[in-house]
Amino acid sequence: MIPKRETKQYSMWINGLWVEAQNGKRFTRESPSEGVIVGEYPQADKADTDAAVAAARQAFDEGLWPHMPGVERARLLNRVADAIRKERDELAEIEVLESGKPISQARDEMDGCAGLWEYAATLARHIYGDTYNNLGKDMIGMILREPIGVVSMITPWNFPLLIISQKLPFALAAGCTAVVKPSELTPGTTLRLGKILEAAGLPNGVVNIVTGYGVPVGERLANHPNVDMISFTGSTNVGRTVVQASSGNLKKVELELGGKNPQIVFADADLDAALDAIVFGVYFNMGECCNSGSRLLIERSIAQELTARIIERSKSVPVGDVFDERTKVGAIVNEAQLKKISSYVELGQQEGAALKLGGERLTTERGRFFQPTVFDQVSPTMAIAREEIFGPVLSIVTFDTPEEAIRIANSTMYGLSAGVWTRNVNTAFQVSRSIRAGTIWINTFMDGYPELSFGGYKESGLGRELGRFAIDEFTELKTIQLHLGARTNWWHRPDSTK
Ligand code: NDP
Repeated sequence: MIPKRETKQYSMWINGLWVEAQNGKRFTRESPSEGVIVGEYPQADKADTDAAVAAARQAFDEGLWPHMPGVERARLLNRVADAIRKERDELAEIEVLESGKPISQARDEMDGCAGLWEYAATLARHIYGDTYNNLGKDMIGMILREPIGVVSMITPWNFPLLIISQKLPFALAAGCTAVVKPSELTPGTTLRLGKILEAAGLPNGVVNIVTGYGVPVGERLANHPNVDMISFTGSTNVGRTVVQASSGNLKKVELELGGKNPQIVFADADLDAALDAIVFGVYFNMGECCNSGSRLLIERSIAQELTARIIERSKSVPVGDVFDERTKVGAIVNEAQLKKISSYVELGQQEGAALKLGGERLTTERGRFFQPTVFDQVSPTMAIAREEIFGPVLSIVTFDTPEEAIRIANSTMYGLSAGVWTRNVNTAFQVSRSIRAGTIWINTFMDGYPELSFGGYKESGLGRELGRFAIDEFTELKTIQLHLGARTNWWHRPDSTK
């Protein structure tokens, strides 16, 4: 039986008004788990995007927001955090229906979002620069931090509200204004966030939310001459396009891109703890996760035993009904993503890796689900060891020495995160310091805190989100030099050569 679901109707938020696209077009979203239409949204194009940028520009150039005391901005951000907590269940349900993630995970994510808005509120009161009192008796030098201006924010479909909550509250704390474009697959909670911001009292035009496709909306936000910065999370390929599009007015670019993150397990590790983190690391969010621990590097002496245990555990991972509290792995976001995962499974077999578990779409009455999948005997040069699959697929590689593990870990174009499992503190730190990635977890995996910076080395990104350094991203430095007393006149300066 096909479940009855409401098709939620949404409008966009531009300059404080809830509006339709100027062309009158709308688009819909079908739930990945049930195949029913769950949302209908305005399909913006260039004209709507330009209107949103104009509103953000005016709110920045002429509005009160950039000059509002930090304490007042903090109060507003805290009100948003409270509202997210209050509306958690409803927001979680929207995310489950649009993205296919399981309900218990979605609720945890909503709690995480509230925590991000709360933490950013504390930063709004700690934006400060530097002063120099050592430049001689006539001079005082000051470095001020100022909001960078209008920021375009483009987000993907895998963690819709979480990813915008890694950007927007920090930009608002700094005094910026913004235009936000959520993924066309999952715009619901970002638009609901607009309602929350409106109720919290955000002045008109400070945040604008435009729904539509990557081209033209995302493209326009990247190349718009009146935008000062673009903050993008998505694939490395689209990230490259964004960099090119941004070059017209040399806007600042911050990018959070893909990953092929290794977990490295040494023979002396706590293997029970590692086993749990390996299975969590690869199947969390159906593997549709930039931080997915999709590459597993095991020291040869324990490889056979640990691989057998991973396969056993993977067989019992609950996949399916996204509204069942016990489900850990939900539905794959769309048909294109499912095809991509299947084609990598085929490629892995062609390249000679051993498929030990799964590898196929699950047979279900509705929706699209993929089996937890394990490849053994993977060589570091195979595509399944180097490229981002974005599905529940684990590739196991073995190694003999820490040096070899480091070499393999660093052998892809990505550098987002890594896990290191060992009881030896020297190995833990030596390996952690040698891996070129933005985050290293030692004896844990994929924990996150608003206080701790997040971002990628190499082609995993540019700049950092979260933590106090996020304020650096959304601010410009301005130097002010103040001269005291009479200035030595250049024209009448005595000739020092005499
Ligand atoms: P995409 O790169 O396809 O899309 C991301 C966003 O960019 C979407 O809103 C998309 O719109 C938009 N977009 C598409 N084309 C353009 C364009 N030419 N100019 C500007 N914007 C455009 O990524 P996915 O949504 O498929 O997300 C998956 C990817 O995101 C993975 O590679 C993953 O690793 C990465 N990711 C990285 C994270 C990190 O923090 N490092 C976190 C989460 C995901 P539309 O939806 O309409 O196509």
